[in-house]
Amino acid sequence: MTQLTASSPNTSRHRSNWQKNLAVIPKWRSAIAAGICALLLLLGWFTHHLGITVLELPILGLAYVIGGYESTKEGLTTLIVDQELDVDLLMIVAALGAAGLGIWQQDYTLIVDGAVLILIFAISGALEGFATQRTEKNIRDLMAATPDMARVICDSEEKAIAVNQIQVGNLVLLKPGEMIPVDGRVIAGQSTVNQASITGESVPVDKVVGDEVFAGSLNGNGVLTLRVETPPESSLIQRVIRLVEQAQTETPPSQQFVERFERIYARVIVVVGILLAILPPFCLGWDWRTTIYRALIFLVVASPCALVASIMPVLLSGMANGARHGILYKNGAQLEAIGRVKAIAFDKTGTLTTGDIKVVNVLPAAGYTTDEVLALAAALENCSEHPIGEAIVKAAKEKNLTLELATQVQVKAGQGIIGQVAGNKVVVGKAEFLPCPLPYKTPISVREGCTTVWIAQENQVLGSITLTDTIRPEAKDLVANLQQQGIEHIVMLTGDAQEVADRVAQELGIKEVYAELLPEDKLRVIRKLQEQYNHVAMVGDGINDAPALAMADVGIALGGTSTDVALETADTILMANKLDKLPHAIRQGQRANRTIGQNIALALSFIGLLLVANFLGNLNLPEGVIGHEGSTLMVTLSGLRLLK
Ligand code: ADP
Ligand code: MG
Repeated sequence: MTQLTASSPNTSRHRSNWQKNLAVIPKWRSAIAAGICALLLLLGWFTHHLGITVLELPILGLAYVIGGYESTKEGLTTLIVDQELDVDLLMIVAALGAAGLGIWQQDYTLIVDGAVLILIFAISGALEGFATQRTEKNIRDLMAATPDMARVICDSEEKAIAVNQIQVGNLVLLKPGEMIPVDGRVIAGQSTVNQASITGESVPVDKVVGDEVFAGSLNGNGVLTLRVETPPESSLIQRVIRLVEQAQTETPPSQQFVERFERIYARVIVVVGILLAILPPFCLGWDWRTTIYRALIFLVVASPCALVASIMPVLLSGMANGARHGILYKNGAQLEAIGRVKAIAFDKTGTLTTGDIKVVNVLPAAGYTTDEVLALAAALENCSEHPIGEAIVKAAKEKNLTLELATQVQVKAGQGIIGQVAGNKVVVGKAEFLPCPLPYKTPISVREGCTTVWIAQENQVLGSITLTDTIRPEAKDLVANLQQQGIEHIVMLTGDAQEVADRVAQELGIKEVYAELLPEDKLRVIRKLQEQYNHVAMVGDGINDAPALAMADVGIALGGTSTDVALETADTILMANKLDKLPHAIRQGQRANRTIGQNIALALSFIGLLLVANFLGNLNLPEGVIGHEGSTLMVTLSGLRLLK
């Protein structure tokens, strides 16, 4: 397959909050700290009830120090290094405030409240750490570790060597049931291979001499010899792993927005908190104890932890799940975007059709032979990546025709190909692309869904080649499936002739067809669709689709058959080269957006409810913390649901 490069990482000066969570404070350390803090609280409770009052304060003090150490460190670092207010710090301030108030009012329960706050915060910190770690682990797991050792054939001897020592050109021997260690091509043997770790498709694929195999897939019953074609560190699966890992360090726009909001919001909370700690005794006649206590609870419950945790766990889980099903989202933002799509444009050749094109007829003009026409066309098409070109070359080779070397070859995407063969200027392409008028009408009736290309040499038409293409079997239910998911608008874009396009569209139930398009026309149609529907996806495979793939909100390419340019440009890749994963990919995106929406609603309503309970009801500090941390944990866990 092809180069997949990840887009450049986010260069923001501030570590995003999410990344801080990922760099998770060692989970076991915070779990143990929380455990000790809990024991100390219990001990404090006993000493209080046994009346050993001298021990009460030292024990609680120790609980504060041990439970609050990590958060204080983290909060102060953020304050000093990033000059940002951090929720950790707000929590510590609230706890110390409670302790201070307790000492001032000589109220032991207030000091305990502060310690409970610290305990709950420490526990939920540890739990969140474990939850995020689980996402990471899941991502890694599904990329099932590729083997460390491989059997290399060297001077007709087998030698086990470390995979990272393997070089391009080495021959690797694979026994039945072994996991394939490198990307390569089969040069001897035959077998079936399970490529599920890459394509999500667990039905084994037959592999014979000449076929490509990928690291991370599982060999079946045959013995295979491979020639290594890609350095082990840039095998397809390694590149996929890197993309997914990169996605964790990138902050998608929605998360950036929430974090920007959080920074402002945190400052507002501090200002409002201070006002709430000072004003009420003067205007509302509250006593100082109630006032300060409520201001402290306000600090805790108003902080937007749950809001910040609403997005990333969802996107990372969704991406991990996608990768397991052979859907590669190049970043988290793509998952959100694909879930919003209202209209989809499909390329025809190679996307809705298999691209497995066959030559059905070669019709020479008067004075030329079939073989001459085919050989000349194939000489040029040897340089083409287009499925039509490949079909013509294959047909010529099947007839054992000798192909001349073509020079100065230029591919005109969506039109044809042009170059020099044996000193003559030769053109192969659609009728409109020819430099001269046609000698006869398009041969086979286009009602049969065939494509015709013409061959001209020095302004003389030599003849035409007619080719058939088969509609992908899984394309038949696609339109219905997509409509079921609320994608009402489906169009087909093709460079092929209108009649051919209409016929394919009719068979697939696509109502809107744009034919005879050049690459820039495809882009124009996408723009028009965007004006109408805002969120538009383009599915394509060719060089001629690349501009449209880049323009669309979501560019989708099919792994396996797509050209490198298309795979490079696309944001989402269906690795199995099957369209039937598309509805799943979209469903996953819709689910992610729904979950993010629910999370944000949940986070905001918890903040609202707790604020009301604080000022109108009788909320105490531990209850406030439980509500606040509980909601944060709830949104994190709800994000992890997308792993399933
Ligand atoms: P689609 O948009 O359906 O993928 P293309 O835009 O790739 O189709 O091609 C449109 C038309 O241009 C083809 O039907 C064919 O007539 C002509 N064409 C494109 N590339 C070639 C080529 N390499 N050789 C011959 N004809 C070509
Ligand atoms: Mg195409």
